[in-house]
Order: sequence, then C-alpha cells, then structure tokens
Amino acid sequence: MKLGTAEAASGEVASGYLSVTELPTGQPEQVPVVVVEGEKPGPTVWATGTIHGDEPTGMEAIHEFVDRIRDEQVRGTVVCVPVMNPSGFRTNARTSYYGDEDPNRYFGIDGGSDETPPSVQQLICDRLYEEIRASADAVISLHTSWIATYPYTIRPRVSYGEHRKKAEAAELRDRLVELVDAFGLPVVNQFSADETVQRSLDHTLTGAAIADGIPAFTPELGGRFVVEKDVCEAAVVGLQNVLYALDMVSDPAAGSTTFELPTDDDLKRFVHPHTDTAGIVRYRVREGEWVDSGEVVADIVTPCGETQTQVKVEHSGYVLSRYERVAVYENDPLLDMAVPDDEPLLLNRSD
Ligand SMILES: [Zn+2]
Repeated sequence: MKLGTAEAASGEVASGYLSVTELPTGQPEQVPVVVVEGEKPGPTVWATGTIHGDEPTGMEAIHEFVDRIRDEQVRGTVVCVPVMNPSGFRTNARTSYYGDEDPNRYFGIDGGSDETPPSVQQLICDRLYEEIRASADAVISLHTSWIATYPYTIRPRVSYGEHRKKAEAAELRDRLVELVDAFGLPVVNQFSADETVQRSLDHTLTGAAIADGIPAFTPELGGRFVVEKDVCEAAVVGLQNVLYALDMVSDPAAGSTTFELPTDDDLKRFVHPHTDTAGIVRYRVREGEWVDSGEVVADIVTPCGETQTQVKVEHSGYVLSRYERVAVYENDPLLDMAVPDDEPLLLNRSD
C-alpha cells in the first residue's frame, strides 16, 4: 500500500508524510503516516490520533502500537495517522490555526459552493477522508477528553431508513459492538440521536465512517495535554486486540486493561448537572465514581469561600469527567456522565 510518501511492500512497515494543503510560507502541510503491510491479505484498519491538537495520547499509543506489531505476522494492512491536526499540535490547541476550526466536525460534508468554497480545514478533512473511505474496513479515532477524565470508548449509534436497510445496519452494529468490546475500555453510547446531530457529531471522523458503513469508534484516552501512561498502555493493548478480533494477528495482546465501569445496563453520554448559580465550583466527586440521583456532587461558593448553593444530580450514573475550571457562570455544565441508555444502539431514522 502507498499513502503519501509511505510505500510498504508485503511484510514491510513504511513511514512518511501525506501532503494535505499548501502553507502560505511555501511548504506543504503534511500529516505523518505509518503503513504496516501484512504478508497475507486481510482487512485494512485505520488508527488516527491527535485530530484535536491538545490530545497527544492517541499519537503516542499509535507509536507504541506500531512498535509492538512491527515484527508480528500481520494479515491485512494497518494504516496509522498519529497526528491528524498538525497545526493544532504545533500550538497545543484543539483547533487548527488556519481558521480556528474544529477539524473533527468536517468529515462527510458536501460543503461549499462556488460562492462560498470550503475552508482549508474542510479541504484537508476531505482529502484525508477520501483516503480513509477508499480502504478502511474499520476506523479507530483516538481522542482524549477533559483533564479529569475516566477513560472510556464512545460507541456511535447506527441508523437505518431510506439510506440503509435494517439488516445492513444491524450487521454494522454487530461488527461495531465486537470491535469496541475488543478494544476493552468501558463502553459509553453516543448522545441521543437528536443531540448527536445538534452537536454536529455526525460529521466527526467516526460519524462519517459509520454513515458510510465502516465500523468506527472513538476512545477517550483520559485527559488532554499530557500522556497518561496507564491509559496509553491500555490503548496499545486495545488496538492489538481489535486486530486479533479481525483475525489480523494470531495472539491477543499481553496485559489487560484495568479500567471498568461495572453495570448491567448500556450507558450513554450525558452532560449533567449544570449550575444555576455563578461562583466557584468545589467538586465532591471525581471521575470513575458512581453517583445516585439526588446526590450533591458539587458546592458553589463565593470568592470569599461561603457556600451559596449545592448542586445535585437528577440522574444516577458514573462520572466520566469533571470540567476544567473552578469559576463557573449560570448554566455552565459541571460533569460529563455515563447514565443508563434509554435509546437503542440501532435507530430507525425513516420517520
Ligand atoms: Zn478530541
């Protein structure tokens, strides 16, 4: 397989760069790529990292993963893009600096017109996604979340309707469930269908791939800015176990992940609670903890330290993340939670 300047013959690992646009200073903007070409034919898996430039853990997990499988007998092809957002990575920022846009909201969009052409970030996403869609049998889009985060995998919902037959959608869902389980982090279903569209999460890399029938998911590898080594190691194990589930390597990964959110229910993402009072937030809970409906999870105090109000949760569930600031305004969210899911993973979108 050849991608940019990385050309790997059978049984080889090649690294190089894919040019995605031109910089005003005369150089090409390039993303790094590593291609692991197995000796035998098989599926093609894409692993991508750092599409938010302040999320380095995916990049490092990919580096270590490639080192692990370098000498394995791989069936099929693994394509890695450790840094999907080079400009955000240079500035340690979530967005790219060409137009301060979130690159992970531009996949699978037929955007632009003659009057309003697509932005350079959208062009870059189009060019990357064209390569991904042409060959991917599975996509793992590695991310991190807020600094205080318990690691988990976001599992997207799969819809059927005029765009896809129910049986095809069910098959895609089953493949997705298998691969997410193989990855090994706690599983949290995507927001409700309406909220997913409201937040443009249908145009993330994962969202676009699912729309195109490619199983794809989004591990959130702890907090941003720094690499949490234990989570990074869990991701390396997870990536290898996804290859094992696809029969691309002969053995599962040595080691296991220790992250779990024990429950019999499917969980879904939920941003809750919000504070109705401005002030200084003092959390009483931390990521990974279960909280019961009615429990006080935070106090809002004045700058002099006097308690103004207590914030309770109205839903039971796990705390996934605490938000990254102590000064809060009216209606600011305080927690990302995983609560019991009341919607199916397989959705009817024909109505
Ligand atoms: Zn991210």
